[in-house]
Amino acid sequence: MLTGKAAVVTGSTSGIGLGIAEALARNGAAVMLNGLGPAGEIERLRSDLAQRHGVPVEFHAADMTRPDEIRDLIATAERRFGRVDVLVNNAGIQHVDPIEAFPAERWDAVIAINLSAAFHAVAAALPGMRARGWGRIVNIASAHGLVASAGKAAYVAAKHGLVGLTKVVGLETAGSGITCNAVCPGWVLTPLVERQIESRAAERGVSIEAARRDLLGEKQPSGQFVTPAQIGESVIFLCSEAAAQMTGAVLAIDGGWTAQ
Ligand code: NAD
Repeated sequence: MLTGKAAVVTGSTSGIGLGIAEALARNGAAVMLNGLGPAGEIERLRSDLAQRHGVPVEFHAADMTRPDEIRDLIATAERRFGRVDVLVNNAGIQHVDPIEAFPAERWDAVIAINLSAAFHAVAAALPGMRARGWGRIVNIASAHGLVASAGKAAYVAAKHGLVGLTKVVGLETAGSGITCNAVCPGWVLTPLVERQIESRAAERGVSIEAARRDLLGEKQPSGQFVTPAQIGESVIFLCSEAAAQMTGAVLAIDGGWTAQ
């Protein structure tokens, strides 16, 4: 379905972003990976994806706190692939603390990576998409883009902001062949969430398994984790012709979290 198209997925060396990159490559898109991690491990991911799906896969190490590097990520993808048709703003970090104890430096980092990075990437990718009259921008927000939880001031503010940015980009591109939508996952078992499960287990003196059940039970009525593959497939749907009139919208994939 995406043969001949090229995609950039920020934060795709792990978790949800990797699941999205996998789905895009499987559907024929060239993919520019991005994210942190050991060079050898990233190269293994890159060549494995390229070989299994027979598509060009490259890696750019842009730090999502650095606007110049984000813009270079898009420019490099355009140079290498001749185009950027699909942009998935996925990179994200978490920090949990009550607001009085929330380190200002962590607030700045969460807002930069989870929100401002998407602004810079969209601004850099839009001119090419407009010139070709086709584009798909998908912002990976969160259930926390729709509702809040205590202890997550920066994350909830950034994700609500990302949902707002999605609506503005949807309006500014309406009718141009470009769409911009947000996907709002509930709990997905990735390193970002595993760290939260580990601190919960330590704080409460319970096993990892008990902390995991407790985390799901508190918010996610299905009692099951969403998978990176399911988020990947939602991005494929948003890239499809069926979703051509869907823009500025929010797709909650959260096991019922935000239905409560
Ligand atoms: P993860 O920790 O597995 O992956 C995060 C990715 O972002 C990694 O590739 C990491 O290298 C990259 N990254 C982090 N800081 C970066 C930086 N400064 N520059 C470039 N890349 C950077 O986490 P995940 O759970 O896969 O999260 C992916 C996205 O999904 C995030 O935006 C997160 O907020 C969102 N999300 C996750 C969940 C969940 O339950 N896991 C739920 C809702 C939303």
